[in-house]
Amino acid sequence: MRTFDVVVTGGGPAGLMAAGTAASAGRNVLLAEKMEKPARKLRITGKGRCNLTNARDTARFLEKIRTNREFARAALRAFSNRDAMDFFERIGLPLSVERGDRVFPASGKAWDVAEALVRWVRKSGAEIRCDTRVREIGTLHGRIASVILEYPNGRTQTVRTSNLIIATGGLSYPATGSTGDGYDLAHALGHRIEGIRPALVPLETESEYVRALKGLHLRNVNVTLLIDGHPVGSEFGEMEFYEYGLSGPVILRLSREAVDALIEERKTEVSIDLKPALSMEKLTARIERERPGLPAKATVADLLRKLLPQPLIRPVSRQAGIAPDCPLSRFGYRETERLIRTLKDFRLPVTDYRPFTEAIVTAGGVDVSEIDPETLESKKIGGLYFAGEVLDLDADTGGYNLQLALSTGRLAGLLKKSPGAPDFPEPSSAR
Ligand SMILES: Cc1cc2nc3c(=O)[nH]c(=O)nc-3n(C[C@H](O)[C@H](O)[C@H](O)COP(=O)(O)OP(=O)(O)OC[C@H]3O[C@@H](n4cnc5c(N)ncnc54)[C@H](O)[C@@H]3O)c2cc1C
Repeated sequence: MRTFDVVVTGGGPAGLMAAGTAASAGRNVLLAEKMEKPARKLRITGKGRCNLTNARDTARFLEKIRTNREFARAALRAFSNRDAMDFFERIGLPLSVERGDRVFPASGKAWDVAEALVRWVRKSGAEIRCDTRVREIGTLHGRIASVILEYPNGRTQTVRTSNLIIATGGLSYPATGSTGDGYDLAHALGHRIEGIRPALVPLETESEYVRALKGLHLRNVNVTLLIDGHPVGSEFGEMEFYEYGLSGPVILRLSREAVDALIEERKTEVSIDLKPALSMEKLTARIERERPGLPAKATVADLLRKLLPQPLIRPVSRQAGIAPDCPLSRFGYRETERLIRTLKDFRLPVTDYRPFTEAIVTAGGVDVSEIDPETLESKKIGGLYFAGEVLDLDADTGGYNLQLALSTGRLAGLLKKSPGAPDFPEPSSAR
């Protein structure tokens, strides 16, 4: 029977980083990846450009972690965003820093990030075995003892190991291989799984306006998420309208709270400030300035054309309770006020969220209270480690999720022993 010092389950960024780290320290490593090639998801990240980390300082970086921020601290200390940037430059991947401190490969190709990582892992001496699924994990006296691998033809193989790193990712974009196997493996070993749900996910709305707005891309808007009528978060930036509803960076960032509210069946809405740079007073002044320049027979729609993209004219005037073809001559103080209120608070109900197939990340996962944050070793099973999205960790868009995968991958790959963990002899290595 083949024996490895460590088996890494999953060849995404977390698993690759873990495997390369362990192999660089002289460990005999098997990385099992169930798809035909490693890092399929990584290759499509950042719209094919891969926003691999964010260059902002640690305090501001930590703010962007949505779940279990404190737990993530030790991993970020072990391998910070700065360390990640140095690492990629060192393995031959030049980087560029863009707006919002987002870091991309200078080539603009996510594929290059994946290939650089895979090359580094192979050079470190780890064996990467594709089309290889970790199906079952064997334990002995509360420690990892063996792993059952499964190949596409149904054949299985048992390998011996005293360390296993689960880096199987979440459930989002399952076609990339992230189908939630890690949750089942962890659960079978007695770990609790916190509620799994899509995060950074588009939202659905059943508003009468949606069809008219389909395809519209708004920049520089401020969107507030309202739950039971109370504002719970605001984001400034870009959003897009689709057949089913809303997406774009601002919506994705607000989706975390929206999904939770929808699960709890609470009233969920978005309020879009279409003119965030202008106060009510300034908007009133702007309208008063535009009016004299319009022809005598001008309508509300003519006025709105000066302020909004065409597809929004009808929805905004309808929500304000004003007919778009109402002549401006009959457009008084009250109507102006109603119009301005709608421009600052265009409301859409949120009726659902899109499925995992469209979610950038998975919220929930392996309960971190059962894992030592300093080592990422399980508190239940000796030699069992976790890294990446399979953990109950998630962050905003902007390179934070990949950094979390890399940081936790690095820390897990160090195979540090947690104090008090049962210490059994390592199996003898066989390369
Ligand atoms: C479209 C899209 C764009 C994104 N863009 C960005 C971005 O620009 N910046 C950013 O920070 N984040 C981005 N993310 C999020 C980021 O990709 C993930 O957070 C990250 O890939 C998680 O890494 P991971 O290694 O934990 O898991 P994954 O990348 O999901 O990798 C897990 C691997 O495990 C394998 N596996 C699963 N089960 C088994 C098993 N039983 N046996 C063997 N192998 C198994 C899978 O095949 C997969 O290869 C994006 C996500 C998506 C979907």
